[in-house]
Amino acid sequence: MKEKFVTNRNVKLWEKLSEKFTIEIKVISVKEYMIFIKNNHAIIYYNPINICEASFTHELLHLNLDYHDFYLCSAIKRNMASDPLFLTMFNTSMTEHLCNFIEHKMMFSDYKKLGYVADLFVMDYFEKKINQKDVDSLIKNYKINNKINVRVAHLFVGKLGSLFGDVNTKNDYNELYSIFKNLDSDLYSAVANLFVESLKHDYEKADYIYNYRDIAANFHKRLINWKNNNQFT
Ligand SMILES: [Zn+2]
Repeated sequence: MKEKFVTNRNVKLWEKLSEKFTIEIKVISVKEYMIFIKNNHAIIYYNPINICEASFTHELLHLNLDYHDFYLCSAIKRNMASDPLFLTMFNTSMTEHLCNFIEHKMMFSDYKKLGYVADLFVMDYFEKKINQKDVDSLIKNYKINNKINVRVAHLFVGKLGSLFGDVNTKNDYNELYSIFKNLDSDLYSAVANLFVESLKHDYEKADYIYNYRDIAANFHKRLINWKNNNQFT
């Protein structure tokens, strides 16, 4: 199966990852490729109707972050676990959603360096990552009697993460960012800086002094400040 997906473009990456992981390649009946990683075993699922080396390499690049012990998602989950408010807002699927987008931003330049076409990086490359209905709902429901609606704050973070995680630079979200900032500039900055710090982070050279745990801890600190400065409903 490997022959279909590994060519001289990605063979070096494949070989590097194969030193640490056994990589299984399996068919899946859904459209999108995906990867499942447990310890030193990875399974990449592919769509047999769409054999796509670029999509396969996208999954390899997720694995490359594990190769370099970049476990931001687990660290954020651990930090959120002790607080009921954060557990609601940053439940498992939200944390995975956010970190998936952060990883995409981190991976995208490597993906392009390997010579793949940008629009094959994700299936929804050309789509806008938010619709007007969500924007209207955020504006209308974010605060009730000056208290933040936790359920809507959850939507706020999810949507903002999708915008920050969009690798298609032709999608211009500046006006939308102003709306988010007007609604809650502290929560906006908490999420924005999570992306900024992750993208600045040289994960290939991370050590015990500064690594993904610090990025997660900084995010947690900003959220605690935000929580202490607001009331919720
Ligand atoms: Zn991905």
